[in-house]
Amino acid sequence: MYRVGVDLGGTNITVGIIDENLTIIGRSKLKTNLPRHFDEVFSDIIRAIYFAIEDADISIIDISSIGVGVPGAVDSQSGVIDFSSNLKIYNMSIKSELEKTFNKPVFITNDANCAALAEKKVGAGRNAKNLIAITLGTGIGGGVIINDKLITGVNGATGEIGHMVIDFDGIECGCGRKGCWEKYASATALARQTKEALAKDLYKKSIIWEMIENDLSKIGARTAFEAMKNGDKIGKQIVDGYTKYLACGITNLINIFQPDVLCIGGGMSNEGDTLLIPVIRIVEKERYSLYSSKQTKICIAELKNDAGIIGAALLNEI
Ligand SMILES: [Zn+2]
Repeated sequence: MYRVGVDLGGTNITVGIIDENLTIIGRSKLKTNLPRHFDEVFSDIIRAIYFAIEDADISIIDISSIGVGVPGAVDSQSGVIDFSSNLKIYNMSIKSELEKTFNKPVFITNDANCAALAEKKVGAGRNAKNLIAITLGTGIGGGVIINDKLITGVNGATGEIGHMVIDFDGIECGCGRKGCWEKYASATALARQTKEALAKDLYKKSIIWEMIENDLSKIGARTAFEAMKNGDKIGKQIVDGYTKYLACGITNLINIFQPDVLCIGGGMSNEGDTLLIPVIRIVEKERYSLYSSKQTKICIAELKNDAGIIGAALLNEI
């Protein structure tokens, strides 16, 4: 039998079919095309599932279950999306609707939880009983697995690690607090930090000005990294500052959970060792378990964009 994994993102609806070896044998992708009515998005989820089944050259009879990963707070028990700021939906039950449509068991959880499940099963956390998977993108997402169990909490919203405050009364966050980690260590935050540094570079000494052709709107999360690799001092200062923020939150997570593995995914993880090694250096100095014989392995996530669909397909196992 085969399983369907749906990664319902703010940009794309990505579907994969996995076989018993957890290999993806069929795929499809449709644009989420927001903003539009969720009924239309839902119709496209159904279409995308059929397209993936067709791509895998199997039939709906061969499917044992469907899993869906959603950006937002999801009650996995009831299958209700309590709230998703990306999808602009509240209190939406897609589990029962999909079960009616396909007559298969449907499982649903937060997308970062899916990534953690996938990394634990076939990615960076293979053989780890305790794993934290973090995703550095527009915000910071996280999935926490302790003693082989995904931690979901009373309302399914565990893992909102991006809203851990690292600077009391700091930068305002959309969640209502100030100083949340994701305002300092997400990809979005790094782009903002780059813009702020350039605003102070009155004599335009940085090569970033040339890279962006003096157009600040061309600054992305990777701009400072690119400049640093080309020997730019200001680029290095920006990355060094960003790295401290990132390491601060990672150290907090390690102090609280002591996972075997903490893996970093999302767009920023494409920087690989350039991002990872300086973070590890700071964490090694600051972690509470400085003298313990066992230490958390910090690494880059392995499954990249497939983590969401593989993890969603695995939801029938938890
Ligand atoms: Zn927040």
